[in-house]
Amino acid sequence: MEKKVKNFGYSVTRDRQIDFDANNHDVGKIVALAEPTLHLCISCGTCSATCTASQFTEFSLRQVILLVRRGETKGLLKEVSKCMLCGKCQLVCPRNVSTRNLIIQISRALCNHEVSGSAMLKP
Ligand code: SF4
Ligand code: SF4
Repeated sequence: MEKKVKNFGYSVTRDRQIDFDANNHDVGKIVALAEPTLHLCISCGTCSATCTASQFTEFSLRQVILLVRRGETKGLLKEVSKCMLCGKCQLVCPRNVSTRNLIIQISRALCNHEVSGSAMLKP
């Protein structure tokens, strides 16, 4: 006779380990060179809490910065394009991260990466 297993609604959690060394850090390196305040971010999320784009979309600057630093940049260009460059995030950042320029540099590096396969600007 088949044994009935009760379903409590739980499931196995997806593996969330990050293989940092296996990720591509080209974009992060070139962005940090162009805008060194990338290193000052402490992922506090104040920028995301005040972000204009976050009010209408799922956009999170905190997450974008985190993913760039981790080297997980796949599909990020579409995400970054949601930013309206209003600059509100820059006014509230407790670490004085130059967020607007950071977003511009991230977009630029991601565009170069998608077009040429490298984040480096071609002469
Ligand atoms: S407010 Fe500044 S320090 Fe905080 S997550 Fe945003 S960029 Fe990073
Ligand atoms: S500049 Fe972009 S990330 Fe910053 S508050 Fe405005 S829409 Fe949000």
